[in-house]
Amino acid sequence: PRFQINPYSMVHARESTDLGGGAPGLLRCPTTDENGYRFVKLDNGLQVLLVHDPKTDKAAVACDVRVGSLSDPDDLPGLAHFLEHMLFYSSEKYPVEDEYSKFISKHGGQTNAFTASESTNYHFDVNWDALAPALDRFAQFFICPLISRDGVDREAHAVDSEHGKNLNSDAWKALQLWKHTANPDHPFSRFATGNLETLLDGPARKNVEVHTRLKEFYEKHYCSQLMRAVIIGRESLDDLQALASSAFGPVPCRGLRAPSFSPEATPRAGLLMKAVPERSGHTLELQWRVEPELKHYDAAPCQYFSHLLGDEGEGSLFALLKARGWATDLCAGESGTSFSAASIFRVRIGLTDAGQEHVPEVTSLVFSYLGMLRQPGGISHQVWEDARALAQLRFDFAEKMAPSSYATTLAGAMQVYGRHDLLLAIHHVPQRYDPELLDTVLSTLCPSEARVLWASSSFQVPTDCPLKEPWYGTAHSAGPLPAEWLTHWEAAWGGEGAALGDKDGHRFCGMHLPPPNPYIPSRFDLIKESSSSPAKIHATPLYTLWHRPETGFKVPKTAIYLHLRMPEAYLTPRAAVSTQLISRLLTDKLSEVAYPAELAGLHYGVRATTSGMLLSFWGHSHTLPRLVQTVLDSLLEFEVLPDRFELAKEHQAKDYANMRHEQPYQHGLYLLSVGLEARRWHVRDYEAVLPGVMGDSLRAFQTAMLGTVRIDALIAGNVPAADARALLQALEARLLAGRCSPLPASQRTEARVVALPSPMRAVHAVPGPNPANDNSAVVVAFQAGRDDVRRNALVDLVGHLGKREAFHTLRTVEQLGYITHLSAFWTLTVSNILVLIQSSAHSARYLQSRIDAFLPKLADSLRGMPAEEYAAHVEELAKAKLEKPKRLRDAVNTDWSEIDDGTLRFPRKELEAAAVRSITQEELVAFFEARESRGYLRVLSFWL
Ligand SMILES: [Zn+2]
Repeated sequence: PRFQINPYSMVHARESTDLGGGAPGLLRCPTTDENGYRFVKLDNGLQVLLVHDPKTDKAAVACDVRVGSLSDPDDLPGLAHFLEHMLFYSSEKYPVEDEYSKFISKHGGQTNAFTASESTNYHFDVNWDALAPALDRFAQFFICPLISRDGVDREAHAVDSEHGKNLNSDAWKALQLWKHTANPDHPFSRFATGNLETLLDGPARKNVEVHTRLKEFYEKHYCSQLMRAVIIGRESLDDLQALASSAFGPVPCRGLRAPSFSPEATPRAGLLMKAVPERSGHTLELQWRVEPELKHYDAAPCQYFSHLLGDEGEGSLFALLKARGWATDLCAGESGTSFSAASIFRVRIGLTDAGQEHVPEVTSLVFSYLGMLRQPGGISHQVWEDARALAQLRFDFAEKMAPSSYATTLAGAMQVYGRHDLLLAIHHVPQRYDPELLDTVLSTLCPSEARVLWASSSFQVPTDCPLKEPWYGTAHSAGPLPAEWLTHWEAAWGGEGAALGDKDGHRFCGMHLPPPNPYIPSRFDLIKESSSSPAKIHATPLYTLWHRPETGFKVPKTAIYLHLRMPEAYLTPRAAVSTQLISRLLTDKLSEVAYPAELAGLHYGVRATTSGMLLSFWGHSHTLPRLVQTVLDSLLEFEVLPDRFELAKEHQAKDYANMRHEQPYQHGLYLLSVGLEARRWHVRDYEAVLPGVMGDSLRAFQTAMLGTVRIDALIAGNVPAADARALLQALEARLLAGRCSPLPASQRTEARVVALPSPMRAVHAVPGPNPANDNSAVVVAFQAGRDDVRRNALVDLVGHLGKREAFHTLRTVEQLGYITHLSAFWTLTVSNILVLIQSSAHSARYLQSRIDAFLPKLADSLRGMPAEEYAAHVEELAKAKLEKPKRLRDAVNTDWSEIDDGTLRFPRKELEAAAVRSITQEELVAFFEARESRGYLRVLSFWL
C-alpha cells in the first residue's frame, strides 16, 4: 500500500465567510459536507476556524501551537513534550488539579495532545451542549497555566513511563536510529520524548531548575500568533465566533515568529544500517530526502509515486517480489517523520526468509521499477488521472471523520496550508498535473541518494550489529552501501532491467504500469426502503439470513457478513491452525485482485474464528457482488500451492512468536480471554502443532471442514431484500452441490464463558511475554454476569464513574504508570469490571496492593457523591449510549454483534440507556460493595 491511503479528491466550491484578513473567497469542500465554515483572526493574531455542524453529538476543539521537540534546549531533551503534559494539570482560573480532564470526561468527552517536531497539538471532544465551559477550561492552557513544582516531579514519571512503553517498539527504535545517524548539529538528531534521566535526575545533578525552564520555554514559544485553533459545534457560526473570542481572546501575544530549521538533517546518502528488531522477521527500508509534499500539495508528486510503488495489483513491484517469494508486504510514500523544511520518501518491504537472502536483488527490483518510470511514458497523464478519479470517488462518498480527529487535523493543517485549499490538502486531492515536477522528484529517487535500514532478527550481536543506540539500546551497525550493490542499482535504474535475473526475458521483469481498474462503480442510486434494525428474512437448514436496508447515511454502500460455522474448524489446536492457514492463503491468493478493489472502495476480510470462518465485505453496492463472487470462488475452489504454503507457514510462525512482543498489559488481556472463554486454545498450543501441518493435509482438512456448515448472514445497507436472498440462495446451491451438509441443530457449539465460583479471588503470577520488556502489569477482572440489561447498566455505570477516579488516583497522584485503566469489559456475552495498570517502576504485587487500596476509596466516593453530581453522571452515560452512529459501517457492525453473539437485543443502546437512567445511587453502591466488601467475589487477576 501507500503510506498515505487517504487521498480524497473532487471538490466543489462553497462560499465561506472569511474574517481572517484574507480576501473573501471560497473554501473548497467535499460534496457530502454539510458543515458551515468560517475563518476568524482574533485581535491577538490567533487564527480560528469555526465549523458549524448542526447534527454533531460531540463538539470538538483543537489548538495547534507551532513549537515542538526541534525547539528543545540542548540540555533538556524532551522539554517540549514535558510541557505538553504539564499544561493538563491546572490553571490560575481552575486551580484544582485535573479539573480540565475531569470536566471533559464527566461530559462524555476525551482529551489528548501530542508533540511533533514543530508543533504541539492539544485537543478534546465533549457533548455538544458542554462546549462553552469545556472550551473555557481548555483555553487556560494558553493563558495562565499553573506549573507546580511537585507536579513537575510527579509528571516526569508519567513521561518516563510513556518512554518505557515505547522502549520495545520497533517503530520508535527505527525512528531513533535515523535520528542517531542524522546530522549531529541538527536538532532532528536528538531524543525527543524525554525520560527521568533527561527531565529530572540529570538536571538535578547539574542544578538545572526544570520547573523554571518549563516556564521559560512556555514564555519563549507559546504565543497567540503561533496558534491555530478549530472549534466544531452545533452552535451557529456567530455563536461559535463569540465563544472563540471570549475563550481565546485573552491568550497573550508575545510577537513571536515560528522557528525555522535547516533542511540538512537527514543521514548521509549511501548509508547502510543494519539493526536487530524486537519482533521476529526482516524488513528493508529505502529512504530518500525529498522536498516536503506540503510545498507542492496541489500537484502531489510523492503521492503519484506512492500510488505506483505501493501498487499491489498485477504488474506491480510488489506482485513481482511476492511471486519470487521474497516479500510479505510493501509500503511506499512520503513518511510522517518529516518536518517543514525536509522530508523523506521511503519504500519499506517486509521480507520473507528467502527475501532476507536476496536483499541486493530485492533492492535492484525497486530501482528497476523506478528505471521503468524513467522511460518515455513512465510519467503518464493517464495514470495520474486514474489515480485522481479513484481519489475523487473516495472523496465523494467519504463518511464523516470523528469531530476530535477532524479538529486536530484541521488545526495542524492551518499551520501549513492556504486557507481556501485546507480541505483539499488534508484529503490529499491532487489538483494539477505537473510532469516536470514529477520528473524532478523521480530523479531524486536514485541509487546515489538512497540510504537503507535493514532490520532482521537473524542478525547476530555483536558480529553483524556491534553498536548500541544510546536511548533505546538498539543493536545496529552503520557503514557505506556496498559498491557492488550500487553498481547493480545503477544498471537497473538506467533501464537495464532485463539484465537483472529476469527469468521471463521481459524488460523490467514483466513489471508495468497499473491496468484500468474493473471495480470502479458507475451506479450510485439509493434504494427506497430504510429500517432501523435488521429482520430475519429467510432461514433454511443451512443458513439464517438477516437483512437491514439502510440509506440514511446517503452512501450507496453495502455491508455483508457471512459467518461459516463449521465444527471441524476449531475442534483441536491443529484444526484451528489449519483454519488460520487457509484464511491466510486465501488472502494471499486474492491480494492482486483485491488491491484494485480496495482502491475503488471495496474491502473484504477473511478471519478464522473460534467457531469457523468469518467473511466480511464492505463497499460500493454496484461492484461489491463482483468481489464477493471472487472471494467465494477462491474459498470453494481452494488449492494449496506448495511454495505459497511454506511461506504462509513461515509467516504464521512469526505471528505467533511476535505475540511475545506485546506490551505486558496486552498480554494480560489476552490471558484473561483465554482463561475465561470455555473453548479457546492458547497460542503456545498453536506453536506446538504448526510444524506438523502439511500442505496435502490442509487440502483434505478444507474438504472436511466444509463438509458440515451452518451460516449466519447479515446483509445491510443499500441493498434490496431480493438481492440479499439471491446471494444466499446461490451460495447454498453451490455448497450443497459440493459435499456439504447443513449442521444439525444438536451439533451447534455455543460460545461459553467459565463462571468463576463465588466468592473467589484467583491470582496468576505469570512472567511477562518478553523478558526484554521491564514493565510489569496487573490485569484484574471482576466477573459480573451474563448479558442482562440491568446488570450491564450497573457495570457500565461503575466503569463510567470509576475511570476518572482511577486515572486521578493511580496515574496522576500515585504515578504508578502511564497506562492505568478502569472500565466495563466483555468476555463474549459476560460482563466484567476491568482494572489494569502497567508500570515501569513498580512490581505487580505493589500495583495489586494499590488497586486493593483504591477500590474501597472508590466505594466511598460513590457513596459520598452529591446527588446532583450522580444524576449528571448518569445522564452523561445515558447520552453516550444514545449517541447515533456516524457511519453506516458502525451501525451495521453493532447489528452484526447482536446476531453473531446470539443476543439479538435490538435496540440494545436504547434499552440500556433507559436502565442506566433508572438506577439509583443506593442500588449502584450496593452493587459495587457486594463485590467490594465481601472479599472480592469472582476475581481473576494476572500479574506479569
Ligand atoms: Zn506524552
